[in-house]
Amino acid sequence: MDITKIAVVGAGEMGHGIAEVFSLSGYSVNLIDISPEALKNALSGIADSLGKLVKKGTITQDSAEQAKKRINTLTDIPAGVKDADLVIEAVPERLDLKSKIFKQLGDSTKASAILGSNTSNIRITQIAQDVKNPARVVGTHFFNPPVIIKLVEIVKGEKTSDETVSSVYALMQKMGRVPIKVNKDTPGFIVNRINASEMLFFGLFFDKNIAKPEEADAFIRSQGMLMGPYELLDFIGIDVINSSMLYFAKEISPDFSKVKVYADLVNKNMLGKKTGRGFYDWSAGRPAIIDSAKPTDKLSLIDIFSLEINEAVKLIEAGVASPEDIDTSVKMGMNRPFGPISVAKGLSNDEVKQTLEKLAKDFDCQVFAPAESIKQGRMRDAVEGRLQVAKSPSSAGNPSSAPPKYKNITLEKTKEKVTTLSINRPKLNLINNDVLDELALAASELWNDGDTNVI
Ligand code: NAD
Repeated sequence: MDITKIAVVGAGEMGHGIAEVFSLSGYSVNLIDISPEALKNALSGIADSLGKLVKKGTITQDSAEQAKKRINTLTDIPAGVKDADLVIEAVPERLDLKSKIFKQLGDSTKASAILGSNTSNIRITQIAQDVKNPARVVGTHFFNPPVIIKLVEIVKGEKTSDETVSSVYALMQKMGRVPIKVNKDTPGFIVNRINASEMLFFGLFFDKNIAKPEEADAFIRSQGMLMGPYELLDFIGIDVINSSMLYFAKEISPDFSKVKVYADLVNKNMLGKKTGRGFYDWSAGRPAIIDSAKPTDKLSLIDIFSLEINEAVKLIEAGVASPEDIDTSVKMGMNRPFGPISVAKGLSNDEVKQTLEKLAKDFDCQVFAPAESIKQGRMRDAVEGRLQVAKSPSSAGNPSSAPPKYKNITLEKTKEKVTTLSINRPKLNLINNDVLDELALAASELWNDGDTNVI
């Protein structure tokens, strides 16, 4: 389908950035908001951002001027969307508001128009529930700031058509974005879902008074991250975090409602950077973190990585996205050089499993309990996209011979934890597909085998 006219509904933090991205790619954009003030701020935000791109030499002054001219602001949704080929909604994260807007979009747009939502967490199927033709509703999840972060999660709702997904995917590719298909409509999609268990963890970590926020942040920064978790929570906004937790509690597990601190801070209007106070004092424009705070020894990176790997494995098991797409999303969405899949490849199943079991017990939280594949010793199969290949656990306990399922290879183990893997097809030892399958299966099982250090 030919997409030429774009409408963006909601001109706040995200909407103005999304409008800028489309106009920079040459599309004419109707930017719509109920608040004229928000539209005014949006235009000045876009002008500032374009100015920075000109200064950096990314675009010319002329293209900045053209981009500004392509954006038209309105306060009337039906008038702004009636000719659009694609509408992207970026109003506040409330299901009641979003489903009301989508009903209106369904009634006021051309039948062929695609309706995208920039929701962070809410399932697309819920947002589309009152739209006459939900096949054209899709998640188009941009990251903040859209002009810098090229990742866009394209979420298929239960009723979204394949055609809708592929049209939006192709459009994003054409615009130089990095679209990632989210094949199943799950709360938080990829990046925010993986983040959710960390938000839960650091909320409980605070509630249990295990270490002070500045000590936890000092530890995480000492490990090479740009921002500690509590600074990040303040930066995102505690109200946003709290409502995400409530949504996940309803949709994923009641454990997400166990954190007390987020609701307490919201009740005191301590929402972080936006109100000048959250976990930290932001009145000077940046958090008053005690720079000399001693990193806590109560945290370990393996805890954090295991939580991320666990959620990634759950997403793979549920068919939400491929391991490669999960890694790309986390790297780009969280602005890091690595994702949970690459980290998992450097850890053993046992390490991750034991860490998760301990976290689940210490925090009385089933969200942290190992995913099914990790429980079964198949973490590597999951992260290397082989869940369907390796169905049975390793042959631990029978160290000197291959289990019966191996017909073409033998395994010999020594006390020094060296396992020799031999091809065993008399007479010519020919390699066929069965041999290759067994080699792959054995290599993956031995990787997670505590009795093997060298193959
Ligand atoms: P925001 O509060 O900055 O902006 C929302 C805008 O919507 C406001 O300008 C408001 O006036 C307008 N609005 C409210 N009701 C409206 C209506 N009925 N019709 C038209 N406009 C209306 O919010 P935001 O941070 O831009 O978030 C928008 C969406 O993007 C949310 O779903 C959020 O979860 C998601 N998101 C936010 C971020 C982020 O970092 N802020 C990142 C990714 C996704």
